[in-house]
Amino acid sequence: MVGNLNIKRNVLLNPGPATTTDTVKMAQIVPDICPREKEFGSMMKQMREDLVRIVHGDPEKYTAVLFCGSGTINIDVCINSLLPADKKVLVVNNGAYSTRAAEVCEYYGLPFIDLKFPIDDVPDLGVIEETLKANPDIALVHTTHNETGTGLLNPIKEIGALAHKYGATFVVDTTSTYAMRPINIEEENVDFLMASAQKGLMAMTGLSFVVGNTELIKKSAEYPRRSYYCNLFLQYDFFEKTGEMHFTPPVQTIYSTRQALDEYFAEGEENKWARHTRVFNAIHKGLAELGFKDVIKRELQAGLVVSVKYPDDPNWNFEKVHDYCYERGFTIYPGKISGTNTFRLCALGAIDEEDIVNFFVVLKEALTANNISVPVIYKEDK
Ligand SMILES: *Cc1c(COP(=O)(O)O)cnc(C)c1O
Repeated sequence: MVGNLNIKRNVLLNPGPATTTDTVKMAQIVPDICPREKEFGSMMKQMREDLVRIVHGDPEKYTAVLFCGSGTINIDVCINSLLPADKKVLVVNNGAYSTRAAEVCEYYGLPFIDLKFPIDDVPDLGVIEETLKANPDIALVHTTHNETGTGLLNPIKEIGALAHKYGATFVVDTTSTYAMRPINIEEENVDFLMASAQKGLMAMTGLSFVVGNTELIKKSAEYPRRSYYCNLFLQYDFFEKTGEMHFTPPVQTIYSTRQALDEYFAEGEENKWARHTRVFNAIHKGLAELGFKDVIKRELQAGLVVSVKYPDDPNWNFEKVHDYCYERGFTIYPGKISGTNTFRLCALGAIDEEDIVNFFVVLKEALTANNISVPVIYKEDK
């Protein structure tokens, strides 16, 4: 174990990478090792099992496949690998992250339906069912669990039941819920889900993973191979045969993820979710005290991301407020809603209620220092 490196602690309120513990940071500092060594392989094997365990997957039915890349690599992998020939993808789309999946379809030239719904509400299940009924060639349904662009929670269990009723595989982007909001993969009717190490697991960037149905992965061996580097079956098969990633893994990130997994299991699923909920509630409390309004109805929020409307104050300047907070160790993040000016505050990472209380002291100072009215003002209130 390396001694205390005395690294400044920043509170990240952006939607990942998240604030990490010092023990996770320091877990990266290890003797140089070739990742083809057995010792490294056995660490990845255990990691794959643990990643399935987090979503309560039966190890006989589900497996985890690791990739070197940011979270978007998982969307790419699932879509390009899990679509049989002459079949179609249905993207249930109510936000920026599902739009990313539609763009992946577009880039691979795959047949797809981009079924768009308003970004501030859950998708209409009746419309999804009609679409599935009218398009029997849909073999893959993709959606996002917590639409990180808005913070809205999608009803994946219900969408998954529809996908299965019409014989389609159900893929869910759980990047911004995995290891935070409890998920039971089988009960939620999910065939494949995904995340990356720097979000809910509170580790470093560079490691992403897909957790999904092993039989379906094996079946996909017969599907058209559309990518060399990002093929799910190839990576799975290579792991099974050799215990290694096909190409060089992010070695130091994997060491820090090992430490993060140990810390995850030590904190426990329920306690961790309770902590994120405390942070989320503290964010709402602080925002309300300053008069800020959020975009998504509270009961539709996933409990991890708050999208906040820019005040209608001539002195409001996101960059200046951001910079003031950033210089004092707090990172806030721009929104991802076209047509509405928003910023986001997220409850990810190794932070607790006290950090949020401290943040709002700084945010209030930032507003005052920039001559922005407190409480903040909105046109519709005048
Ligand atoms: C963070 C995130 C991703 C991955 O984004 P990267 O920038 O590639 O890490 C994908 N989907 C969702 C829902 C996310 O929150």
